[in-house]
Amino acid sequence: MKLHFFYLCLFLLFVSSCSKNESGIITVTGKIPAGALGKTLHHEHLLVDFIGADSTGYHRWNKDSVAERVLPYLLELKKLGYKTLVECTPAYLGRDPELLQMLSKESGIQLLTNTGYYSAVEGKFLPRHTFDETAVQLANRWIEEAKNGIEHTGIFPGFIKISVERKPLEAINRKVVEAACLTHKATGLTIMSHTGLAVPAFQQLEILKEHGVHPSAFIWTHAHNETDFNKHLEAAQQGAWIAFDNFRPDRLERYVDFSLFMKKHGLLHKVLFSHDAGWYRPGEPGGGNFRGFTEIEDILIPALRENGLSQQDIHQLFVLNPAETFKVRPRLL
Ligand SMILES: [Zn+2]
Repeated sequence: MKLHFFYLCLFLLFVSSCSKNESGIITVTGKIPAGALGKTLHHEHLLVDFIGADSTGYHRWNKDSVAERVLPYLLELKKLGYKTLVECTPAYLGRDPELLQMLSKESGIQLLTNTGYYSAVEGKFLPRHTFDETAVQLANRWIEEAKNGIEHTGIFPGFIKISVERKPLEAINRKVVEAACLTHKATGLTIMSHTGLAVPAFQQLEILKEHGVHPSAFIWTHAHNETDFNKHLEAAQQGAWIAFDNFRPDRLERYVDFSLFMKKHGLLHKVLFSHDAGWYRPGEPGGGNFRGFTEIEDILIPALRENGLSQQDIHQLFVLNPAETFKVRPRLL
């Protein structure tokens, strides 16, 4: 009997250590196994406030009114079989973890939020301290959010969102990328960087390497702005995620061509698609014009299938790839 109890204890110890080590995904309602992410749109927005870092804040919107406006779009997405939406609005641009948690509970859609700063648009969305502090100090702020939650909400970031200008990196962009590398090493969170063109994308990958971070920890966000597919291929071969994340019906042909190109090169497992749609706009009547999240399901996926992508390829793009992308674990060189 005693021996049975001993083995039972050993097993429980094993199970608990396994669940601690298992790399999951962090949503606004808690950690889930990567296999539970399901069909996912990896880059969307529920609210964005463009007024600037010095004027934005929770006083700019009413959570209940926003939730009422946004909920139908999440329910519509759920009906199409999607389980998760990654909300990419960074701090100082309208990030609201409590609003997201509310909407996740009401809709049943899993949502992810982020830590990090947006350094494009000449610093308009950067808090003052970004200019005065070092990369280490910035990273410590973000690591603090990852370890203890965002602003005492008990809600944790599921990835790092940063941005750089669409041109060669300036000092402030570099600092933010370095802070993201340090945060990744301490937390295992994936770096999603609003980038666009190839030049700043490869400059960022160099910074990652200098910090010993593997390119697979990096999402080249808005990669569709780069016209040369060979650049995408090169970054994907290094291991980076290539995000064509602003699908619109008039871009259908290009998105299909890109899929076929990456499939031909055996790299469909590094591709991410989304709409970069939404969102509630504080300051505009009723939150302004809201673009829903259904065009990928209604237009892109049928076109991909007509052009020869299999059901397994679609599953790869919208289930397996996002799960692999956002699975929390340090990816080191
Ligand atoms: Zn976006």
